[in-house]
Amino acid sequence: MTKRIFDDAPLQGGLLAHVQECRPQGKEFCLILDQTIFFPRGGGQKCDEGTIGGIPVLDVYEEEGEICHIIPKAPEGDEVLCRIDLGTRLSHMQHHTAQHLISAAAWQLFQNLTIIARMEDPWGHIEFQRPMEDEELLALLRRVEEVVKADLPIFCRYYTPEQAAQMDVRGKITPHERIRLVEVEGFDRNACGGTHCPSTGLVGPVRFVGSKMVRGAYRLYFAAGQRAHDFALEQDLRTLRLGKYTEEESPEDCEKHIADALHRLPVLEESVQKLRRQLLEQTAENLFRKASEQEAFPAVLQLLEGWDKKDGKALCDDLIHRGVRFVALGFAEGESLGVIAAQKKSKKMMPLGRALKEFFPAHEGKGGGSDALGQGTVPLSAWDDFAALCAPFLRGEGAE
Ligand SMILES: [Zn+2]
Repeated sequence: MTKRIFDDAPLQGGLLAHVQECRPQGKEFCLILDQTIFFPRGGGQKCDEGTIGGIPVLDVYEEEGEICHIIPKAPEGDEVLCRIDLGTRLSHMQHHTAQHLISAAAWQLFQNLTIIARMEDPWGHIEFQRPMEDEELLALLRRVEEVVKADLPIFCRYYTPEQAAQMDVRGKITPHERIRLVEVEGFDRNACGGTHCPSTGLVGPVRFVGSKMVRGAYRLYFAAGQRAHDFALEQDLRTLRLGKYTEEESPEDCEKHIADALHRLPVLEESVQKLRRQLLEQTAENLFRKASEQEAFPAVLQLLEGWDKKDGKALCDDLIHRGVRFVALGFAEGESLGVIAAQKKSKKMMPLGRALKEFFPAHEGKGGGSDALGQGTVPLSAWDDFAALCAPFLRGEGAE
Protein backbone atom coordinates (compact mmCIF):
# COMPACT_ATOMS: atom_id res chain seq x y z
CA MET A 1 0.00 0.00 0.00
CA THR A 2 1.39 3.40 -1.01
CA LYS A 3 1.74 5.87 1.86
CA ARG A 4 -0.37 8.95 1.10
CA ILE A 5 1.77 11.93 2.16
CA PHE A 6 -0.81 14.44 0.83
CA ASP A 7 -3.34 13.30 3.48
CA ASP A 8 -1.52 15.11 6.30
CA ALA A 9 0.77 17.43 4.32
CA PRO A 10 -1.32 18.81 1.44
CA LEU A 11 1.17 21.60 0.76
CA GLN A 12 4.31 19.42 0.50
CA GLY A 13 5.68 19.95 -3.02
CA GLY A 14 8.74 17.61 -3.03
CA LEU A 15 9.53 14.09 -1.75
CA LEU A 16 12.24 11.41 -2.03
CA ALA A 17 10.53 8.05 -2.58
CA HIS A 18 11.59 4.47 -3.29
CA VAL A 19 10.51 2.56 -6.39
CA GLN A 20 8.56 -0.59 -5.44
CA GLU A 21 7.63 -1.60 -8.95
CA CYS A 22 7.85 -0.26 -12.50
CA ARG A 23 5.82 -2.31 -14.98
CA PRO A 24 5.29 -1.58 -18.70
CA GLN A 25 1.72 -0.62 -19.55
CA GLY A 26 1.18 -0.25 -23.30
CA LYS A 27 3.74 2.32 -24.52
CA GLU A 28 4.03 3.76 -20.98
CA PHE A 29 5.00 2.61 -17.49
CA CYS A 30 3.06 2.22 -14.27
CA LEU A 31 5.28 3.25 -11.36
CA ILE A 32 4.49 2.22 -7.78
CA LEU A 33 6.34 4.03 -4.96
CA ASP A 34 6.55 3.36 -1.20
CA GLN A 35 5.07 6.84 -0.60
CA THR A 36 3.78 9.69 -2.76
CA ILE A 37 2.77 13.34 -2.82
CA PHE A 38 0.75 12.80 -6.05
CA PHE A 39 -3.00 12.85 -5.38
CA PRO A 40 -4.69 10.23 -7.60
CA ARG A 41 -7.71 11.44 -9.55
CA GLY A 42 -11.07 10.58 -7.98
CA GLY A 43 -14.06 11.90 -6.07
CA GLY A 44 -14.49 14.70 -8.60
CA GLN A 45 -10.92 15.99 -8.11
CA LYS A 46 -8.20 15.81 -10.78
CA CYS A 47 -4.80 14.19 -10.17
CA ASP A 48 -1.70 16.30 -9.58
CA GLU A 49 0.69 17.49 -12.26
CA GLY A 50 4.45 17.12 -11.78
CA THR A 51 7.59 15.03 -12.38
CA ILE A 52 9.24 11.89 -10.97
CA GLY A 53 13.03 11.74 -11.49
CA GLY A 54 12.59 14.64 -13.94
CA ILE A 55 10.08 12.62 -16.06
CA PRO A 56 6.64 14.20 -16.55
CA VAL A 57 3.77 12.30 -14.90
CA LEU A 58 0.88 11.73 -17.35
CA ASP A 59 -1.79 10.31 -15.04
CA VAL A 60 -2.16 9.16 -11.41
CA TYR A 61 -4.85 6.80 -10.18
CA GLU A 62 -5.51 4.42 -7.31
CA GLU A 63 -5.85 0.67 -7.75
CA GLU A 64 -6.48 -1.60 -4.77
CA GLY A 65 -4.62 0.61 -2.28
CA GLU A 66 -1.68 1.18 -4.62
CA ILE A 67 -1.18 4.53 -6.33
CA CYS A 68 -0.18 4.10 -9.95
CA HIS A 69 1.90 6.91 -11.57
CA ILE A 70 1.80 6.72 -15.39
CA ILE A 71 5.10 7.92 -16.94
CA PRO A 72 6.43 7.75 -20.53
CA LYS A 73 9.76 6.08 -19.54
CA ALA A 74 11.19 4.21 -16.56
CA PRO A 75 13.22 6.33 -14.07
CA GLU A 76 16.88 5.51 -13.25
CA GLY A 77 17.75 4.13 -9.80
CA ASP A 78 15.64 3.01 -6.85
CA GLU A 79 15.34 6.40 -5.20
CA VAL A 80 13.43 9.10 -7.10
CA LEU A 81 12.67 12.76 -6.48
CA CYS A 82 8.96 13.56 -6.80
CA ARG A 83 7.81 17.10 -7.47
CA ILE A 84 4.27 18.34 -7.89
CA ASP A 85 3.10 21.65 -9.35
CA LEU A 86 2.04 23.37 -6.11
CA GLY A 87 0.16 26.15 -7.92
CA THR A 88 -2.12 23.59 -9.59
CA ARG A 89 -2.45 21.63 -6.32
CA LEU A 90 -3.44 24.80 -4.46
CA SER A 91 -6.06 25.65 -7.09
CA HIS A 92 -7.47 22.08 -6.93
CA MET A 93 -7.56 22.25 -3.10
CA GLN A 94 -9.22 25.66 -3.05
CA HIS A 95 -11.94 24.51 -5.47
CA HIS A 96 -12.45 21.18 -3.73
CA THR A 97 -12.57 22.76 -0.26
CA ALA A 98 -14.90 25.50 -1.54
CA GLN A 99 -17.18 22.70 -2.77
CA HIS A 100 -17.34 21.25 0.78
CA LEU A 101 -18.25 24.70 2.14
CA ILE A 102 -20.91 25.46 -0.50
CA SER A 103 -22.51 21.99 -0.22
CA ALA A 104 -22.52 22.17 3.61
CA ALA A 105 -23.97 25.71 3.68
CA ALA A 106 -26.70 24.80 1.12
CA TRP A 107 -27.65 21.84 3.30
CA GLN A 108 -27.62 23.83 6.56
CA LEU A 109 -29.52 26.84 5.16
CA PHE A 110 -32.06 25.24 2.80
CA GLN A 111 -31.69 21.42 3.18
CA ASN A 112 -30.70 21.44 -0.49
CA LEU A 113 -28.79 18.23 -1.07
CA THR A 114 -25.66 17.92 -3.24
CA ILE A 115 -26.07 15.07 -5.75
CA ILE A 116 -22.66 15.27 -7.42
CA ALA A 117 -19.68 17.65 -7.62
CA ARG A 118 -16.89 17.98 -10.19
CA MET A 119 -13.77 20.11 -10.44
CA GLU A 120 -13.07 20.89 -14.09
CA ASP A 121 -11.26 23.59 -16.04
CA PRO A 122 -11.90 26.42 -15.64
CA TRP A 123 -14.76 26.06 -13.09
CA GLY A 124 -15.94 23.58 -10.51
CA HIS A 125 -19.61 22.68 -10.39
CA ILE A 126 -22.08 21.19 -7.92
CA GLU A 127 -25.39 19.61 -8.87
CA PHE A 128 -28.11 20.28 -6.29
CA GLN A 129 -31.44 18.56 -5.87
CA ARG A 130 -33.37 21.84 -6.24
CA PRO A 131 -32.82 25.15 -8.06
CA MET A 132 -32.05 28.25 -5.96
CA GLU A 133 -33.44 31.77 -6.35
CA ASP A 134 -31.31 34.93 -6.27
CA GLU A 135 -31.96 35.51 -2.53
CA GLU A 136 -30.94 31.94 -1.67
CA LEU A 137 -27.76 32.18 -3.76
CA LEU A 138 -26.87 35.44 -2.06
CA ALA A 139 -27.45 33.98 1.42
CA LEU A 140 -25.42 30.90 0.44
CA LEU A 141 -22.47 32.95 -0.80
CA ARG A 142 -22.58 35.17 2.33
CA ARG A 143 -22.46 32.10 4.58
CA VAL A 144 -19.50 30.64 2.63
CA GLU A 145 -17.67 33.99 2.85
CA GLU A 146 -18.23 34.06 6.64
CA VAL A 147 -16.74 30.57 7.01
CA VAL A 148 -13.72 31.51 4.83
CA LYS A 149 -13.18 34.68 6.83
CA ALA A 150 -13.36 32.75 10.16
CA ASP A 151 -10.34 30.68 8.96
CA LEU A 152 -11.64 27.47 10.61
CA PRO A 153 -9.15 24.57 10.88
CA ILE A 154 -9.78 21.55 8.62
CA PHE A 155 -8.81 18.03 9.82
CA CYS A 156 -8.81 14.65 8.09
CA ARG A 157 -9.11 11.61 10.38
CA TYR A 158 -9.69 7.89 9.78
CA TYR A 159 -12.44 5.95 11.58
CA THR A 160 -13.87 2.43 11.52
CA PRO A 161 -17.33 2.16 9.84
CA GLU A 162 -18.80 1.53 13.34
CA GLN A 163 -17.25 4.72 14.75
CA ALA A 164 -18.33 6.77 11.70
CA ALA A 165 -21.91 5.47 12.03
CA GLN A 166 -22.05 7.01 15.54
CA MET A 167 -21.04 10.46 14.29
CA ASP A 168 -22.97 13.33 12.77
CA VAL A 169 -21.85 13.17 9.12
CA ARG A 170 -23.33 15.09 6.17
CA GLY A 171 -24.03 12.99 3.08
CA LYS A 172 -23.56 9.32 2.31
CA ILE A 173 -20.64 7.19 3.52
CA THR A 174 -19.34 4.68 0.97
CA PRO A 175 -18.65 1.37 2.81
CA HIS A 176 -14.89 0.98 3.29
CA GLU A 177 -12.75 -0.60 6.03
CA ARG A 178 -11.31 2.82 6.93
CA ILE A 179 -13.57 5.87 6.66
CA ARG A 180 -11.79 9.19 6.08
CA LEU A 181 -13.80 12.04 7.57
CA VAL A 182 -13.02 15.63 6.68
CA GLU A 183 -14.01 18.05 9.41
CA VAL A 184 -14.32 21.80 9.08
CA GLU A 185 -14.15 22.61 12.79
CA GLY A 186 -17.55 23.51 14.18
CA PHE A 187 -19.12 23.71 10.71
CA ASP A 188 -19.21 20.43 8.75
CA ARG A 189 -18.18 16.78 8.73
CA ASN A 190 -18.15 14.81 5.48
CA ALA A 191 -16.60 11.54 4.21
CA CYS A 192 -14.05 12.36 1.49
CA GLY A 193 -10.71 11.18 0.07
CA GLY A 194 -9.60 14.44 -1.60
CA THR A 195 -7.01 17.09 -0.72
CA HIS A 196 -8.21 20.01 1.40
CA CYS A 197 -6.82 23.35 2.54
CA PRO A 198 -5.44 23.19 6.13
CA SER A 199 -7.93 25.93 7.07
CA THR A 200 -10.87 27.67 5.38
CA GLY A 201 -9.00 30.98 5.02
CA LEU A 202 -6.76 29.47 2.34
CA VAL A 203 -9.79 28.93 0.06
CA GLY A 204 -9.70 32.65 -0.71
CA PRO A 205 -12.53 34.43 -2.55
CA VAL A 206 -15.45 32.33 -3.86
CA ARG A 207 -17.64 33.40 -6.79
CA PHE A 208 -20.67 31.82 -8.44
CA VAL A 209 -20.04 32.03 -12.18
CA GLY A 210 -23.06 30.35 -13.81
CA SER A 211 -25.91 27.88 -13.45
CA LYS A 212 -28.16 25.65 -15.53
CA MET A 213 -30.58 22.73 -15.19
CA VAL A 214 -29.06 19.36 -16.11
CA ARG A 215 -31.27 16.22 -16.12
CA GLY A 216 -33.58 17.76 -13.52
CA ALA A 217 -30.73 18.85 -11.22
CA TYR A 218 -29.58 22.43 -10.59
CA ARG A 219 -25.94 22.78 -11.62
CA LEU A 220 -24.10 25.68 -10.00
CA TYR A 221 -20.68 26.67 -11.40
CA PHE A 222 -18.21 28.30 -9.04
CA ALA A 223 -14.62 29.57 -8.84
CA ALA A 224 -12.33 29.83 -5.82
CA GLY A 225 -8.98 31.45 -4.99
CA GLN A 226 -7.01 33.04 -7.83
CA ARG A 227 -9.57 31.95 -10.43
CA ALA A 228 -12.38 33.66 -8.52
CA HIS A 229 -10.23 36.78 -8.35
CA ASP A 230 -9.52 36.62 -12.12
CA PHE A 231 -13.23 36.12 -12.81
CA ALA A 232 -14.13 39.20 -10.75
CA LEU A 233 -11.56 41.28 -12.65
CA GLU A 234 -12.95 40.11 -15.99
CA GLN A 235 -16.48 40.96 -14.85
CA ASP A 236 -15.36 44.46 -13.90
CA LEU A 237 -13.73 44.92 -17.29
CA ARG A 238 -16.87 43.67 -19.05
CA THR A 239 -19.04 46.14 -17.15
CA LEU A 240 -16.68 48.96 -18.09
CA ARG A 241 -16.64 47.82 -21.73
CA LEU A 242 -20.46 47.54 -21.87
CA GLY A 243 -20.72 50.96 -20.26
CA LYS A 244 -18.58 52.34 -23.07
CA TYR A 245 -20.75 50.66 -25.76
CA THR A 246 -23.98 51.89 -24.21
CA GLU A 247 -22.47 55.28 -23.28
CA GLU A 248 -23.44 54.72 -19.66
CA GLU A 249 -21.10 55.33 -16.77
CA SER A 250 -22.35 53.35 -13.80
CA PRO A 251 -22.92 49.54 -13.68
CA GLU A 252 -26.58 50.24 -12.65
CA ASP A 253 -27.24 52.41 -15.73
CA CYS A 254 -25.52 49.82 -17.87
CA GLU A 255 -27.68 47.00 -16.48
CA LYS A 256 -30.84 49.07 -17.00
CA HIS A 257 -29.84 49.74 -20.60
CA ILE A 258 -29.33 46.03 -21.28
CA ALA A 259 -32.60 45.09 -19.54
CA ASP A 260 -34.46 47.65 -21.71
CA ALA A 261 -32.89 46.22 -24.85
CA LEU A 262 -33.89 42.68 -23.81
CA HIS A 263 -37.48 43.81 -23.29
CA ARG A 264 -37.57 45.39 -26.73
CA LEU A 265 -36.16 42.26 -28.39
CA PRO A 266 -39.42 40.20 -28.64
CA VAL A 267 -41.27 43.22 -30.07
CA LEU A 268 -38.55 43.74 -32.69
CA GLU A 269 -38.48 40.03 -33.53
CA GLU A 270 -42.22 40.08 -34.14
CA SER A 271 -42.02 43.06 -36.48
CA VAL A 272 -39.19 41.34 -38.39
CA GLN A 273 -41.48 38.30 -38.83
CA LYS A 274 -44.26 40.55 -40.06
CA LEU A 275 -41.98 42.27 -42.59
CA ARG A 276 -40.76 38.90 -43.86
CA ARG A 277 -44.35 37.75 -44.44
CA GLN A 278 -45.07 40.98 -46.33
CA LEU A 279 -41.94 40.56 -48.45
CA LEU A 280 -42.93 36.97 -49.23
CA GLU A 281 -46.43 37.99 -50.33
CA GLN A 282 -45.22 40.92 -52.43
CA THR A 283 -42.50 38.88 -54.15
CA ALA A 284 -44.95 36.04 -54.86
CA GLU A 285 -47.37 38.57 -56.39
CA ASN A 286 -44.64 40.09 -58.63
CA LEU A 287 -43.31 36.72 -59.77
CA PHE A 288 -46.83 35.43 -60.44
CA ARG A 289 -47.45 38.43 -62.70
CA LYS A 290 -44.13 37.81 -64.50
CA ALA A 291 -45.00 34.10 -64.98
CA SER A 292 -48.47 34.97 -66.31
CA GLU A 293 -46.93 37.00 -69.18
CA GLN A 294 -46.32 33.60 -70.75
CA GLU A 295 -50.04 32.86 -71.19
CA ALA A 296 -49.83 29.38 -72.78
CA PHE A 297 -47.41 28.04 -70.15
CA PRO A 298 -46.98 30.26 -67.04
CA ALA A 299 -43.42 29.79 -65.77
CA VAL A 300 -40.76 31.85 -64.03
CA LEU A 301 -37.01 31.96 -63.40
CA GLN A 302 -35.61 34.44 -60.86
CA LEU A 303 -32.40 35.09 -58.89
CA LEU A 304 -33.02 36.60 -55.44
CA GLU A 305 -30.80 37.81 -52.59
CA GLY A 306 -31.18 37.74 -48.79
CA TRP A 307 -33.63 34.83 -48.58
CA ASP A 308 -33.33 31.87 -46.26
CA LYS A 309 -34.18 28.28 -47.30
CA LYS A 310 -37.50 28.13 -45.47
CA ASP A 311 -38.87 31.36 -46.98
CA GLY A 312 -37.54 30.34 -50.42
CA LYS A 313 -39.46 27.05 -50.25
CA ALA A 314 -42.61 28.88 -49.09
CA LEU A 315 -42.30 31.29 -52.07
CA CYS A 316 -41.96 28.38 -54.49
CA ASP A 317 -44.98 26.56 -52.96
CA ASP A 318 -47.04 29.75 -53.16
CA LEU A 319 -46.33 30.18 -56.91
CA ILE A 320 -47.15 26.54 -57.75
CA HIS A 321 -50.32 26.90 -55.67
CA ARG A 322 -51.32 29.99 -57.69
CA GLY A 323 -51.13 27.89 -60.88
CA VAL A 324 -47.59 28.59 -62.18
CA ARG A 325 -46.56 25.48 -64.16
CA PHE A 326 -42.77 25.73 -63.63
CA VAL A 327 -40.82 27.71 -61.01
CA ALA A 328 -37.02 28.02 -60.81
CA LEU A 329 -35.51 30.22 -58.09
CA GLY A 330 -31.94 31.00 -57.07
CA PHE A 331 -31.02 32.44 -53.66
CA ALA A 332 -27.60 34.09 -53.62
CA GLU A 333 -25.74 34.28 -50.33
CA GLY A 334 -22.12 35.38 -50.58
CA GLU A 335 -20.41 32.95 -52.96
CA SER A 336 -23.05 30.29 -52.44
CA LEU A 337 -26.30 29.75 -54.38
CA GLY A 338 -29.35 27.89 -53.10
CA VAL A 339 -31.57 26.67 -55.94
CA ILE A 340 -35.08 25.32 -56.01
CA ALA A 341 -37.11 24.13 -58.99
CA ALA A 342 -40.68 22.83 -59.03
CA GLN A 343 -43.34 21.96 -61.58
CA LYS A 344 -47.07 21.65 -61.14
CA LYS A 345 -48.07 17.98 -60.90
CA SER A 346 -49.64 16.65 -64.10
CA LYS A 347 -50.12 13.38 -65.99
CA LYS A 348 -46.95 13.79 -68.01
CA MET A 349 -44.26 15.64 -66.13
CA MET A 350 -40.96 16.88 -67.54
CA PRO A 351 -37.87 14.92 -66.32
CA LEU A 352 -36.76 17.53 -63.77
CA GLY A 353 -35.48 15.05 -61.15
CA ARG A 354 -33.09 13.43 -63.64
CA ALA A 355 -31.75 16.79 -64.86
CA LEU A 356 -31.04 18.00 -61.31
CA LYS A 357 -29.44 14.69 -60.34
CA GLU A 358 -26.80 15.34 -63.04
CA PHE A 359 -26.58 19.08 -62.37
CA PHE A 360 -25.55 19.08 -58.67
CA PRO A 361 -22.50 16.75 -58.80
CA ALA A 362 -21.36 18.36 -62.08
CA HIS A 363 -21.23 21.76 -60.32
CA GLU A 364 -19.61 20.73 -57.01
CA GLY A 365 -22.95 21.07 -55.30
CA LYS A 366 -25.25 19.07 -53.09
CA GLY A 367 -28.91 18.38 -53.60
CA GLY A 368 -31.52 16.34 -55.47
CA GLY A 369 -35.22 15.80 -55.71
CA SER A 370 -38.06 14.49 -57.84
CA ASP A 371 -39.80 15.70 -61.02
CA ALA A 372 -42.20 17.72 -58.84
CA LEU A 373 -39.58 19.43 -56.64
CA GLY A 374 -35.81 19.59 -56.41
CA GLN A 375 -33.44 21.73 -54.37
CA GLY A 376 -29.80 22.07 -53.38
CA THR A 377 -26.75 24.30 -53.08
CA VAL A 378 -24.05 25.12 -55.66
CA PRO A 379 -21.40 27.85 -56.06
CA LEU A 380 -22.85 31.17 -57.25
CA SER A 381 -20.89 30.83 -60.54
CA ALA A 382 -23.27 27.94 -61.51
CA TRP A 383 -26.28 30.29 -61.93
CA ASP A 384 -25.95 30.61 -65.74
CA ASP A 385 -25.77 26.82 -66.12
CA PHE A 386 -28.81 26.44 -63.85
CA ALA A 387 -30.70 28.97 -66.02
CA ALA A 388 -29.67 27.02 -69.16
CA LEU A 389 -30.86 23.75 -67.57
CA CYS A 390 -34.21 25.37 -66.81
CA ALA A 391 -34.72 26.87 -70.31
CA PRO A 392 -36.62 23.93 -71.89
CA PHE A 393 -38.69 23.48 -68.70
CA LEU A 394 -39.63 27.19 -68.80
CA ARG A 395 -40.94 26.70 -72.33
CA GLY A 396 -42.93 23.68 -71.12
CA GLU A 397 -41.30 21.32 -73.60
CA GLY A 398 -42.77 17.84 -73.23
CA ALA A 399 -45.37 18.78 -70.62
CA GLU A 400 -49.07 18.07 -70.87
ZN1 LIG B 1 -13.14 16.59 0.06
